[in-house]
Amino acid sequence: MEITKAAAQPSRRAKAEWFTGTVWQDPIVEAPAPARIKAVRVTFEPGARTAWHTHPLGQTLHVVTGVGRAQVWGGPVREIRPGDTVWIPPHEKHWHGASPENGMVHIALHEHLDGVHVDWLEHVSDEQYAVAPSA
Ligand code: MN
Repeated sequence: MEITKAAAQPSRRAKAEWFTGTVWQDPIVEAPAPARIKAVRVTFEPGARTAWHTHPLGQTLHVVTGVGRAQVWGGPVREIRPGDTVWIPPHEKHWHGASPENGMVHIALHEHLDGVHVDWLEHVSDEQYAVAPSA
């Protein structure tokens, strides 16, 4: 058993090339092989979101606090709230983030395939982000 103390894992600012706005990542686990789960707590400030992206083996998001948004390419913008769990199948193009007025924190869980857990695409434009969500 290995206990990692919170203070030993500094918060990391998410890279501007893959995110819009201020986003902080706090690692939870990156399990050694043969396990391949990775879990991260992600904190989005209001208006902040990921770029469009896919996951080779899919992803689970669990909303902890705030009000968020998520969208699949070609689908409606959806609102996500604390306690909601989102499953994104492998290779499905999507984004997730905060609402314009509220921050959002989610736990993201994803397995890697040959070391890759995400494939980044273009940013979510302000026009795409401005679309009103359905519940
Ligand atoms: Mn994702």
